[in-house]
Amino acid sequence: MAYAPVFVWPPRPRALLRWLPHFVFPTNAIVFVIAVALWTWATPATETMTTLEPGWVGFLLVRNLVVVAAVYGATHWWVALRRSQGEQYKFNPSWPRPRAGNRTFGNQTRENVFWTLASAVPIGTAWEATTLWLFSSGRIGWLDWAAHPVWFVALFPATVLLRELHFYAVHRLIHVRALYRRVHSLHHRNTNPGPWSGMSMHPLEHIVYFSSIALHWVVLSHPVHAVFNMVHLNLAPIPGHVGFEYVELGRYRYPTNGHAHYLHHSLFEVNYADGVFPLDRWFGSFHDGSPDSDARLAARRRSRTG
Ligand SMILES: [Zn+2]
Ligand SMILES: [Zn+2]
Repeated sequence: MAYAPVFVWPPRPRALLRWLPHFVFPTNAIVFVIAVALWTWATPATETMTTLEPGWVGFLLVRNLVVVAAVYGATHWWVALRRSQGEQYKFNPSWPRPRAGNRTFGNQTRENVFWTLASAVPIGTAWEATTLWLFSSGRIGWLDWAAHPVWFVALFPATVLLRELHFYAVHRLIHVRALYRRVHSLHHRNTNPGPWSGMSMHPLEHIVYFSSIALHWVVLSHPVHAVFNMVHLNLAPIPGHVGFEYVELGRYRYPTNGHAHYLHHSLFEVNYADGVFPLDRWFGSFHDGSPDSDARLAARRRSRTG
């Protein structure tokens, strides 16, 4: 487990070029294709969205429920129900207990499905609908792709990177003891996460998690960037929580890059960030699963309690 060769000194341009395809494929490319498809075929017309009406907001809600249920459901079915690859590449060789009395509705998966569909998707949709309404009613600017093609394209990777910084800031905040106990501990019940654990969070966490879409209120962009951000928020948690280093699809091995976040779920105080910026290394919370990292974590814990 290593960081991308982006923030390194001296610069390593060749390594950076070799890494770029791994940044784009597969997750960000899939999110991009789904976002463009949703914007083109499954987003109400701009004229419809100039005023906030229950009809089109309800349509967005159903559209997001269908996308989330389909992708999370298919992933869960593939790795956990069909167990298509058994425990191959699984971080934790055991499976979540089928029955757990302390969980909402009696087990981890049901609890995770509940918070995802009953809280995450409605709250995310509220953020998306507000943003599309702000665009459609002319309250925020609309980037013209023909006039600024380079900026238009660059905004997709920029959205991913800015979302990462936002996620880190919010995540550090909700690890403050009082907020952790009341809010974030719900997500951390999943010490052995599965795909549906990705957005199983307290509603207050959903409100701040999805606020990343407000980026488009202040940075000149196009609604398709906002939809891209939204699809990323909805689907990118899957690889981070699926519980496998690789998901096998026939002969293709889908790299999840999920080890860092798996360690966050099993060790709590490490790897708050997830992605390109080496924030945990800069702030002393990086853990790569090695005995050295274990020793550093133990020393951090001792210095706090001692
Ligand atoms: Zn956390
Ligand atoms: Zn998580």
